[in-house]
Amino acid sequence: MSYWDELMQTSKNKPVRIIVVGGGISGLSAAHRLSELSAKSGLDTETIVLEGSGRLGGVISSEVTDGLLIEGGPDSFITTKPWALDLCLRLGLESKLIETSDESRRIFVARRDKLVPMPEGFSFAPTRLAPFIFSPLFSLHGKLRMSLDMVLPRRKSKGDESVKSFFTRRLGSEAFNLIVQPLVSGIYGASPENLSVRAALPQFAEMEEKHGSLIMAMRRAAQSRNGAKKKGNAARYNQFVSFREGMRELIDALASSLPEGDIQLNKPVRRIETSGNTWKILTNNNESIDADGVIIAVPTIHAAGLVDGFDPLLGDYLSQIKYASSIVVNLLYKREDISHPLDGVGFVVPQIEGLPISACSFSSLKFTGRAPPETVLLRCFMGEDISKEVHDKDDSYLSGAVHNKLSVLLGITSEPVFSMVKRNLQSMPQYAVGHPERIAQINQRAELYPGMELAGNAYNGVGIPDCVHSGEEAAEKLFKHIERNSN
Ligand SMILES: Cc1cc2nc3c(=O)[nH]c(=O)nc-3n(C[C@H](O)[C@H](O)[C@H](O)COP(=O)(O)OP(=O)(O)OC[C@H]3O[C@@H](n4cnc5c(N)ncnc54)[C@H](O)[C@@H]3O)c2cc1C
Repeated sequence: MSYWDELMQTSKNKPVRIIVVGGGISGLSAAHRLSELSAKSGLDTETIVLEGSGRLGGVISSEVTDGLLIEGGPDSFITTKPWALDLCLRLGLESKLIETSDESRRIFVARRDKLVPMPEGFSFAPTRLAPFIFSPLFSLHGKLRMSLDMVLPRRKSKGDESVKSFFTRRLGSEAFNLIVQPLVSGIYGASPENLSVRAALPQFAEMEEKHGSLIMAMRRAAQSRNGAKKKGNAARYNQFVSFREGMRELIDALASSLPEGDIQLNKPVRRIETSGNTWKILTNNNESIDADGVIIAVPTIHAAGLVDGFDPLLGDYLSQIKYASSIVVNLLYKREDISHPLDGVGFVVPQIEGLPISACSFSSLKFTGRAPPETVLLRCFMGEDISKEVHDKDDSYLSGAVHNKLSVLLGITSEPVFSMVKRNLQSMPQYAVGHPERIAQINQRAELYPGMELAGNAYNGVGIPDCVHSGEEAAEKLFKHIERNSN
């Protein structure tokens, strides 16, 4: 065999190398899907995950300390969007999944220093008549205004609109202020005045288009949900699930499903270059790695700088998505020091109440085993939209401020026996009005580079199932491209 033939043979035998930038749930889901596809197709691939920090998981961080299980980021995920649950089952995590108990699903709304139950069947709009009519949460005027949704005409324009404008138009300002604003704030940490209804809550925009009324659409959906059995894996689980030992279990299972050496920590990527079919990944540690494909699974504020060198316009589009910070304050109390029965999963706080928190979950009651018996772990969410002015205060100030408000709402008579503050800086993408158009621009530009895919919570949903879907979809698209090229 000549030297040239040998060289060709060696390069033919070299595995196809794919780099995944970012070791959060989106990046790890992409890497795991690549390993599944590679095993199925027989194509020899090498996937390397480059994570900038010293640990995997991104905003997912479960910490065990003093007999407590504390979630610094997400504490559960929804099963009605199938992707995260399906992944868990493929990873063999079935026995580790836990559900919220059916009895304690009630949510309260903080109103004038008291907790008022959200009427049964009420999510963003009422679906059940009696609990809604008799609820003390809304005024008579508020209830009548909400009912107008059933006769108000559809909006003529098909363009995007803010969450505030959409819900105030359909249901009135009381429903918006008491329900929509706190629910949205608890998910996005964002002001609904700037949030796009088509990007953040597209199902409601579709309800108006299809049914003309949110109340009628939600009632029909609830009736058909009650009538029809849930399909697929979701049929076996409650709406929200978590893990016995915290959300970290999903990250650990993904990491251990990948071949050893495929994950490299403390490798912040500084820049990405391309010359058509090949990619060069440059890290802050002055390493340069050649690859056949790359998946960029980092927040767009970081992704912008990575692509800027080869496509400044794509970099510009990515940098237009802004991020918000949030703080999670965990406080542990003796059960005997709380007079409220805590007969629910937690409460949301309307911004008009003027409190520094937007939501509080009764963490150790929602999921058992998270705190010692006779104690209660409370987890409070402070989004930037309502508490920006105190975000740079120190931990003891924040714990104190939250404790003072909880004392009033829950009848707490003693100081917390433990507190922990977790900060998630610039972690939540803001789906501003016009977000769907911005994503279309980004996609159009990214399609010019079939060897590169984008994944993460900035594009088509912020929840864990959306991130899993985004990572897996990116892996499937890239793998198809690589298979095509290697034939
Ligand atoms: C407080 C909070 C509570 C939440 N609660 C829930 C919940 O209960 N349920 C739910 O479904 N969702 C929840 N979410 C949303 C969900 O957790 C996130 O959207 C999701 O985890 C984001 O994952 P990701 O991989 O896209 O991004 P990230 O988690 O941000 O991961 C990105 C990774 O990329 C790394 N990185 C960044 N730049 C570089 C670089 N240049 N080079 C290499 N690596 C880099 C980062 O270090 C990080 O590890 C919550 C979010 C927050 C902040």
